[in-house]
Amino acid sequence: MQMKERLRAEVLTRITRDYGLKQAGASYMRKGKCPKCKKPTLYTFSDSPWMLICGRPEACNHRVHIKDIYSDLFNYWSEQAPATAEDPAATARAYLEFARGFRTELLAGWYTQENYWDSKLKIGSATVRFPLEKGGYWERLIDRPDRFGKMKARFRPTSEGNPGYKGVWWCPPSLDLMETSELWVVEGIFDAIALMHHDIDAVSMMSSAPFPDQSLKTLAEQRRAADKRLPRLVFALDNEPVARANTRRWVKQARELGFTCGAAMIPQRDKKLDWNDLHQRWQFVEGDDERAKQRELDIKNARHEGDLLLAESPEEKGLLMYDWEPRREFSFSFKNRLYWFKFDIEKYDRILTDLENSEREQDQVLNDRERRDKAMRQCGAVVRIANCYTQALYWMRNEQTDESWYYFRVDRPEGPSVKNTFTPAQLASAPEFNKRLMGIDAGAMFTGTAMQLQRFLEPQLERLKTVRTIDWVGYTREYSAYVFNDLAVQEGKVYKLNKEDFFDLADLSIKSQTHSPALQINADLDAYDDAWFEIFWQCFGVRGVVVLAWWLGCLFAEQIRSLHKSYLFLELIGEAGSGKSTLIEFCWKLCGRQEYEGFDPTKATPASRARNFAQVANLPVVLIESEREQQEGAPTKHYDWDELKTAYNGRSVRSTGVKNSGNETREPPFRAGLLVAQNNAIKASEPILQRLGHVNLTREHHTPKTKLMAEQLERMPVEKISGFILKATCAEAGILKLLDEHTSPYEQQLLAMPGIRTVRIAKNHAQLLSLVDGLQLVLPLGDERAALVREEIADMAVKRQQAINADHPTVREFWDLVGYLNGLLPDSGALDPDGHLNHARTTGTFAINLNEVIEVAALKKQQIPQMSELKRLLKTSKSPKFIDSNRAVNSQRLLNAFDKPKTVRCWVFQIA
Ligand SMILES: [Zn+2]
Repeated sequence: MQMKERLRAEVLTRITRDYGLKQAGASYMRKGKCPKCKKPTLYTFSDSPWMLICGRPEACNHRVHIKDIYSDLFNYWSEQAPATAEDPAATARAYLEFARGFRTELLAGWYTQENYWDSKLKIGSATVRFPLEKGGYWERLIDRPDRFGKMKARFRPTSEGNPGYKGVWWCPPSLDLMETSELWVVEGIFDAIALMHHDIDAVSMMSSAPFPDQSLKTLAEQRRAADKRLPRLVFALDNEPVARANTRRWVKQARELGFTCGAAMIPQRDKKLDWNDLHQRWQFVEGDDERAKQRELDIKNARHEGDLLLAESPEEKGLLMYDWEPRREFSFSFKNRLYWFKFDIEKYDRILTDLENSEREQDQVLNDRERRDKAMRQCGAVVRIANCYTQALYWMRNEQTDESWYYFRVDRPEGPSVKNTFTPAQLASAPEFNKRLMGIDAGAMFTGTAMQLQRFLEPQLERLKTVRTIDWVGYTREYSAYVFNDLAVQEGKVYKLNKEDFFDLADLSIKSQTHSPALQINADLDAYDDAWFEIFWQCFGVRGVVVLAWWLGCLFAEQIRSLHKSYLFLELIGEAGSGKSTLIEFCWKLCGRQEYEGFDPTKATPASRARNFAQVANLPVVLIESEREQQEGAPTKHYDWDELKTAYNGRSVRSTGVKNSGNETREPPFRAGLLVAQNNAIKASEPILQRLGHVNLTREHHTPKTKLMAEQLERMPVEKISGFILKATCAEAGILKLLDEHTSPYEQQLLAMPGIRTVRIAKNHAQLLSLVDGLQLVLPLGDERAALVREEIADMAVKRQQAINADHPTVREFWDLVGYLNGLLPDSGALDPDGHLNHARTTGTFAINLNEVIEVAALKKQQIPQMSELKRLLKTSKSPKFIDSNRAVNSQRLLNAFDKPKTVRCWVFQIA
């Protein structure tokens, strides 16, 4: 099969599969679903299916070139069309024909097919090479050029290091410069060739700079020598800021050489187009007349755009716009200032007539344009209404809070542009708009009226792109994407923040409105070096890796909670100097956060605590040192761990309501993982203890060598290790699969162990075991080491069960005291039923009056735990088991005034 046939067959298969296009008659494919308007109106030509077109030109007008959809078919030409001994330029020709839409018979002999080899990357590509006039060449890489980074084309490097085209253009060999009356000067060789297909004489200056002065001078000399008028030049460079500025410069210089000049510039719409793109679009307009009409229209628009670019005064520009589309009033920008055009035709005519008939010499020397400008100025048709230009970029919407903003770029004649938000209220009134402008860019002002503001903004705000926003950093479950500060990750792909400050993901535009925390993640994975893990292992061993596995789980906390309903908290304890802080700070660095460990919830205000809990998703929230040593006389500030209980399931942390702009309080869900790091184990209720994994770092294995390694980890630059978070989040699919498939079997294994009874403990530790498997996907954690880590986790689960079986430390303390005051049985050490505090007569019960306990304790100078907390905790007492907190007991020890056993209010426990 011929190259063209093979490619066509592949395209037809794909568009049938992807868009549901069906053969209709001999030459059409129809009834495809339009990706833009979703109507079944998409069609194409079955013999040349290179463009998909929506059949609703007015309502939708979607058209897209196949090469933009299936770029893989159009960027590896050596595979599509290999060169052969008989046809050494087959690959180059296929590229020119199918990727560029050229009639290659017109270009025969202009180019050769060559090869480029990048010795550093060790990859090569076929090229299409065009010789240049001064020697040297320009060539386009045509085999998956994105592999070569930014370089898609190259010049032969010259010994002087300057480009070989300086001052000289590339002229199509078929173009006779002596005959042309209008010569277009474009940037690329392919732009010039594209225009040539439409009978427009064009040369390529290879770039938007430098100015092709040598070629122009030669042309001027030759034309003058032959006594021919100089052709009119049309500078038609790309529509981007540098090229626009250059166009104005080159026009001025060319005029000095004696040329008359104009400019043409393709208006920028949703997609940046060049002349080659337009050529390919024109090819797919049905019907010769229609095609010619479309082409004329596009060129007329481009020339008008060029005229506006070359306008020398706001008056001239305003008048050009008025001539193009007569309206009584409108706004426009000139050199990054905003003007208002209001046309009073009678006044203008009167002034123009006056100027034409003027006796004054300075009026008589004016040419037509100058006279028009002067009349415009004198009739006051153009006034400045802002000393800057504001461009609406998109609309930002936060679904969670139901708030919205407009994001604008403010350009000034001098200085850098500024980008910031405007609220709807700030756009609704001229004074508010002015205030906001002054607030975001020093000295920027709007001095127009409310009507002018509205008329100026209306076209900008219409059909504005919507960008979703979140007010935290990290994962968003709603859109299945990680949104960090300047990087985002979705479905294993990393995206960079674009120049309008948002992420353009596969089918979603999104950004985070918060800059805190700032993660400095190095997107260059070549800079990432996983050698740190060996040092980490030497330094922290199995327990360090348990923390790392949990940390990895945090990066998937939201997905884990949607799989398993919960994600365990981790408690990391260790005496001072055990390396706890080093470990945590290092884990943060793996995620790009520097110089940070965590925050102390007892020191934070409720508002800042709420912010800390809500500002990240799929990242850890680390609480540090909340149970510090109590200072003499100072009231103890205990953090109420119970307020975290709901966070285990991802629900809002109690007491973290956040007031939004209205009056309602929002309770953001907990989207993160929770790590508690302190010197001693948490004293909390059983429900909290059940939710915790517990890692105890000790100084046991510390040696001078591990100390050096810890320092090495501390010094490791974030650029070299922050790639971890990208490697991990890009492995999302694999890691979640392991979590989904392995957790339940692990849970059964743990429950089968003799020491483990609580399902929640088994589940939490099963999650950690699956995460060790996940860790093996992103780190060089060998099977042997992984097995050691798993053993440690099983051991953690057993110990956790034991901790839960035990009473709260405060309760333990209390019973020790009661044992001392009451007396213990000498053989078993259990509470003596006949002791000094027990009132119960029934065997197996122990009844005490708390006030009496306090009195006796005071007599014996014993401290008693704080009463309100004790009363709460005693109800959880397991040994002895709590029965009742307020029972009237007929005392075995005390008598009343009538010498009868006294009735005493007691707390009752079961002692046997
Ligand atoms: Zn459509």
